[in-house]
Amino acid sequence: MNARVRLYVDHPLGQGQSVPLNRDQAHYLFGVMRLGPGDGVLLFNGRDGEWLADVAQAGKRGGTLLVREVTAPLRRPPDLWLLFAPIKKARTDFIVEKAAELGAARVLPVQTDFTNSERIRRDRLQAHAIEAAEQCGGTYVPEVADLQRLARVLDDWPEDRRLMFCDEEMAGPSTALFDLAAQRDDGAEAGPWAILIGPEGGFSERERSRLRNLPFAHAVSLGPRILRADTAAVAALTLWQQALGDWR
Ligand code: SAH
Repeated sequence: MNARVRLYVDHPLGQGQSVPLNRDQAHYLFGVMRLGPGDGVLLFNGRDGEWLADVAQAGKRGGTLLVREVTAPLRRPPDLWLLFAPIKKARTDFIVEKAAELGAARVLPVQTDFTNSERIRRDRLQAHAIEAAEQCGGTYVPEVADLQRLARVLDDWPEDRRLMFCDEEMAGPSTALFDLAAQRDDGAEAGPWAILIGPEGGFSERERSRLRNLPFAHAVSLGPRILRADTAAVAALTLWQQALGDWR
């Protein structure tokens, strides 16, 4: 089978479904990828798995796909949230893209005392998560939440969700995460978790002392060097997936 184009659609998928295409999707499939009637496309919507569809109608401004058969089930990532303080635009885009590739279930931009940016374009970040899922063979797309204040998010924190607090003051050789991993029964799921990455300026003393005292938070080190926030996000996701997630 040829390498197939993968496309995210916000439409129910099931055998015999007909899926209408918007202008951008039609442009991508027929203008850029040069597909025509009868050609196959792989579709996913983040809920129903991956499906093979045929092009039924191809036009300049739209078209229709006909869903044929399921090709992969929905594969959810572990129940892991990534909380991070937005930084410069390109680096924030990078964090969201890597979160989708590395297997986060939800992405929550948070405003901290030293956050560099006051606003985010949620829809743009969501589009980056979708593109990353299309590209990496994912059948799930992490939801990107609106920017919220970290203090508020912590006020409303679900008690059973543990927090891997990446604390630059802990920078050093060991990471407490592996102690947690060692306590687990083999094969058992880790349960709900979240990772927290601070902004370029790091956490304020007020934030740090609150975070260190939260019963669900585990302060961890990401090694002996201070990483940039985007590097720290990738390193933390990798460590978590390796110790507690679906890479084991
Ligand atoms: N300006 C700060 C560094 C901030 S780095 C300082 O010089 O201290 C941005 C974020 O990445 C931090 O808030 C933290 O969440 C994470 N981070 C970077 N390096 C880390 C390390 N070695 N251990 C734990 N977290 C780290």
